[in-house]
Amino acid sequence: MQFASRLDNVETSAIRELFKLLGKPGIISFAGGFPDSAMFDVEGLKEASQKALTEEPGGALQYGATEGYEPLRTQLGAFMKTKGVDVDPSGLIVTTGSQQALDLLGKTMISPGDKVIVEGPTFLATIQCFRLYGAQLISAPIDANGVKTDELEKLIAEHKPRFVYLIPTFGNPSGAMLSLERRKKVLELAVKYQTLIVEDDPYGDLYFGEAPPPSILALSKDVPGSRELLAHCGSLSKVLSPGLRIGWMIAPAELLAKATMCKQFSDAHTSTFSQATAAQYLKSGRMPATLAHVREVYGQRAQAMGAALERELGDAVSFTQPQGGLFFWARLTGANGKLADANELAKRAIEKLVAFVPGAPFFAEKPDVATLRLSFATADVAKIEEGVKRLGQAL
Ligand code: PMP
Repeated sequence: MQFASRLDNVETSAIRELFKLLGKPGIISFAGGFPDSAMFDVEGLKEASQKALTEEPGGALQYGATEGYEPLRTQLGAFMKTKGVDVDPSGLIVTTGSQQALDLLGKTMISPGDKVIVEGPTFLATIQCFRLYGAQLISAPIDANGVKTDELEKLIAEHKPRFVYLIPTFGNPSGAMLSLERRKKVLELAVKYQTLIVEDDPYGDLYFGEAPPPSILALSKDVPGSRELLAHCGSLSKVLSPGLRIGWMIAPAELLAKATMCKQFSDAHTSTFSQATAAQYLKSGRMPATLAHVREVYGQRAQAMGAALERELGDAVSFTQPQGGLFFWARLTGANGKLADANELAKRAIEKLVAFVPGAPFFAEKPDVATLRLSFATADVAKIEEGVKRLGQAL
C-alpha cells in the first residue's frame, strides 16, 4: 500500500520492538515509561467520577468545547497557581494527554524543512512527532544541569529555529534538572532571538527532596516580553493517571487559537467524562496527598536503584542520581574492558531476565551508543535490587 510521503522518514520506535520481549516470564523491567498502577488513587477517582456523573451528567457525557471543559480549565488554572503561574482559564486549553499538545505544536508551527532544536537526548515520541511534520531536528547537548545554554545560544543564532523544545525538569530520558540560572538564561535567549520556547513539564511535580526551581513559565514574569514566547505543556499522567489522558497547554492567545482549530479537526475535544472526573478530583483537595505519596514511593525506588547501580556495576557505569521523575540516565564507561555498547548489553540483559532501554534512539542527531535509560517506577525496591544485580551479571 502506498502511504503519505510524510511517513517516509519516520520509523516505528526501536523501543516498541524491545517491548515485545518483555512478556517473558520472570522478567524484571526497567524499560517502560509507565507510572506504577499500584499508585493510582482509585478511591479518589471513583468518587470523582461518580460525582461527575451525578452532579453534571449533561457536561460529563455530552460533546464539549474544543478548548476544554470549563470547570477543569478553572481547576487547572488553580493548580498552576500553586506552582507560581498566573493563568486565566481562557489562557489554557485541555489536550488529550500532553502528547496531543506536542502534536498540535507540530501541526501549527512546523512546515516541512523547518528547524527545531531539541535536547540530545530527548523524548522519543517528540522526535517522531516533529519529524512527521517534516522538522529538521537539531540537538543541543545537555549535562546533569540540563541543556547547556551557551551551546544552545550558538545553535539558535546559527539555525534560527521555529522553536526550541525543552524538558527542563527531570527530563525523559535524561532525568536532568535545568538549573535556575540556566532557566533564566533560556528566557533571555527567547527574548534576544525572538524564539518560541516549548517547555514540556510532565514530571515537575515528581520531585523527591527539595522542590525544583520554578518552571520557565513561572519565571517568565520577571523577564519582560518572554511570556509571549512560551508554550508550556502540563499533564496529569505521571502523578494521577495516564489513562485519563488529561494534559494542557498554556501559550500565547494566537497560538492557542490555531492549536484549538487543529484539535477540532483531530478529536473535537478531550473526553468530557475524563475532564469532568479530573475537575472533580482536583476540586476534592486530594491532590496534595497524592503528590506526597508518589514523591515518597518513587523517591525510595530512585534511592534503591542508585545504591544498587553503585554496588553492582561500580565504575562500569556513570550516572547522576535523579532528584525526581521516573528515570536514571546512565552511560557505560567501558572500564576494565567491560561492555560499552548499550544495545549489546540490552540483548544480554534480556537473557538474564532484566530489561532496560538503550539510549541511542533518544538522540535526534548523533547517538551515544553507550547510554541507557532505566525506569525505577514500576518495580518495588526488592525487584530493583534483584534487577540491577542481574544487570551486573549481564555486564
Ligand atoms: N512529554 C514527555 C517528556 C513524556 O515523557 C511523556 C510521557 N511519556 C509525554 C510528554 C506524554 O505524556 P501524556 O500524553 O500521557 O501526558
